[in-house]
Amino acid sequence: MAKATNQDEILYCARCGISFVWSREEQKAPDAAQPRHCPACRYLLPAPGRERGLIKWYDRKKHYGFIVRAGQPDLYVHRTSLDGQRLPRPGDLVEFSVQESPRGPVAQSVVIVEPAAATGSA
Ligand SMILES: [Zn+2]
Repeated sequence: MAKATNQDEILYCARCGISFVWSREEQKAPDAAQPRHCPACRYLLPAPGRERGLIKWYDRKKHYGFIVRAGQPDLYVHRTSLDGQRLPRPGDLVEFSVQESPRGPVAQSVVIVEPAAATGSA
């Protein structure tokens, strides 16, 4: 494949193997890096160094809650670790990085990937 600029490029997904287009517009983005995964896998996979889980509960008055992770203990999340403007609700799919604290691991830079209302059959 020629490394031509200003031209759509065909790439192959490192996860599922399908080909996908890396468009000129995407290549022109200031922070553009050649994607390793197709758009569908990019949506499913957390970014490097990040994890995903579901909000178990979040107390708006106490400003903290917990995230459920597959095969791991629930993760503490505090208001100050929420990147989004909206407060999380139970069932929200969130992406985060895990940081060790004196009281155990905590979620950092928590972003809501998909709100709970949209994960159902709607
Ligand atoms: Zn893929």
